[in-house]
Amino acid sequence: MGAIRRVKTKRRTRDLDQVHADLRSSKHLSQHKSAKPAEDLPGLGQWYCVECAKWFESEHSMQQHTRGKNHKRRVRMLKEEPYSQKEADAAIGLLTDNGTRKPSKLSLIEEQAASLDLETTSHE
Ligand SMILES: [Zn+2]
Repeated sequence: MGAIRRVKTKRRTRDLDQVHADLRSSKHLSQHKSAKPAEDLPGLGQWYCVECAKWFESEHSMQQHTRGKNHKRRVRMLKEEPYSQKEADAAIGLLTDNGTRKPSKLSLIEEQAASLDLETTSHE
């Protein structure tokens, strides 16, 4: 039986956009880190995973964490920036969203037709 997955609300970590700011700016990150006194933090605040906004008791437990799937999923999510320049460009039509898609058969035929068209019209 698989575990029932529920959205955690009690122990919510930082929002992804906050973590983005942490990753971009070390000042932003140190502000967050200094928001709590080190004595209150696990491992006196020495071991911190920026991506997951989590504190760890020891180097060992942090290393274990960075190899785990929760951390990797988080890193993957963070790679997709919520409001990136690419998206902004796409919004004003500089980029299309289907760049990685394989061209369909139909569009290949259209391309061929288009190039044939150029050949036939060029020798006027
Ligand atoms: Zn992590």
